[in-house]
Amino acid sequence: MDLSFTPEEAAFRDEVRAFFRDALPPAIADKQRRGEELTKQDHVSWQKILYERGWIAPAWPERHGGCGWGPTRQYIFNTELGLSGAPRPIPFGLNMVGPVIYTFGTDEQKAQHLPGILTSDVWWAQGYSEPGAGSDLAALRMTAERDGDNYVLNGTKLWTTLAHYADWIFCLVRTSKEAKPQEGISFLLVDMTSPGISVDPIITIDRAHHVNQVTFEDVRVPVANRVGEEGMGWTCAKFLLAHERQTIADVGTKKRQLALLRRLARTLPAGAGMLGDDPSFRHRLADLEIQLSALEYTELRYLDAQHNGAERGIEPSVLKIRGTELQQKVTELAVEALGYYALPFPAPGDSAGNVPDLAPEGSRQALGDFLFARAATIYGGSNEIQRNILAKMLLRAA
Ligand SMILES: Cc1cc2nc3c(=O)[nH]c(=O)nc-3n(C[C@H](O)[C@H](O)[C@H](O)COP(=O)(O)OP(=O)(O)OC[C@H]3O[C@@H](n4cnc5c(N)ncnc54)[C@H](O)[C@@H]3O)c2cc1C
Repeated sequence: MDLSFTPEEAAFRDEVRAFFRDALPPAIADKQRRGEELTKQDHVSWQKILYERGWIAPAWPERHGGCGWGPTRQYIFNTELGLSGAPRPIPFGLNMVGPVIYTFGTDEQKAQHLPGILTSDVWWAQGYSEPGAGSDLAALRMTAERDGDNYVLNGTKLWTTLAHYADWIFCLVRTSKEAKPQEGISFLLVDMTSPGISVDPIITIDRAHHVNQVTFEDVRVPVANRVGEEGMGWTCAKFLLAHERQTIADVGTKKRQLALLRRLARTLPAGAGMLGDDPSFRHRLADLEIQLSALEYTELRYLDAQHNGAERGIEPSVLKIRGTELQQKVTELAVEALGYYALPFPAPGDSAGNVPDLAPEGSRQALGDFLFARAATIYGGSNEIQRNILAKMLLRAA
């Protein structure tokens, strides 16, 4: 097994690194550094820069406007993106519904939706979870009753990330109550301007507005907006979830966060010396570095196996569990290191104005990041569910 990069891959890494350093608009870089919330326009502007460079859709096939990169280039790109601190493209169009549409959609659906996803002119949201249907997604109850050339939708979607920005939402809906739970589900593309849709904010523990409750009351959706056959939505749903977990280890971002912790160790006074003089802090930092190295090599081994034609196995679940646990540990140590500097964290949307930051540079959002990281072991399939998947795959294989 060779886990080192070839000269071409190393050159590609340097090219990507230089691009992220030079192409991110200073105003967005500044907001990121200061821990300020990005607006929808900030996200769209940055994604358009990636689009112009031809790098907005690393995993999409070239014939659909993507880069057609293999797993190693995608890994390098994602790691450099995390290291740079540039915003990660919003996944709902690019990583989720886009691949579903180019794999299962009609030619008309591809022509209508793929260009807007690539240019980021159309913002998508994911309408899977409902009250009472999260881990047990097949229990979803939102109904879609056929009325001529339309479905009529009634029900509620919950935890819908950034639906307040969305132009379209893809939904799992129940088109039959007769069939087995999984077989009665269909996959619909819904225009958010359709009459009968309301979006109510849910404010999370970090005081931010990431998620929403979306209610559908007699919303009419053309049958032509269904992807795949009626009752085949579960196939699209499973395909999409595999894509959702692809970048979840996010090694690059954690490397950047650990670099910040190392800087805090050198610069934050603690007792008679600096924080880094404290053996218990040094021990915890070293422990996290080792865990991150292990995560990185697990991901590289997985890439190597994929490169050699291995089937997707337990690795996405392993990477999800370890990646999110480590995310929580890294953000926790940052908050502990900062102590009272972590406390006056800004409400999202606050600008720093002309008040100098109390917190050391780059750490203004540390408490917000720590608090929101609680959600990481829940979304994208909770870690308990990932452990169930691991147990089933490994024990069945034994
Ligand atoms: C910040 C955030 C953003 C999200 N964004 C979206 C989005 O954009 N679109 C969307 O559709 N959904 C989204 N979700 C929803 C997310 O997918 C669900 O929260 C997740 O699937 C868990 O479902 P639940 O919340 O209903 O919890 P439940 O399924 O009720 O689970 C509650 C607890 O029980 C555990 N549990 C449940 N079943 C089992 C089992 N069989 N074995 C062991 N333990 C079990 C779970 O692990 C969890 O700890 C988001 C969630 C969060 C927190």
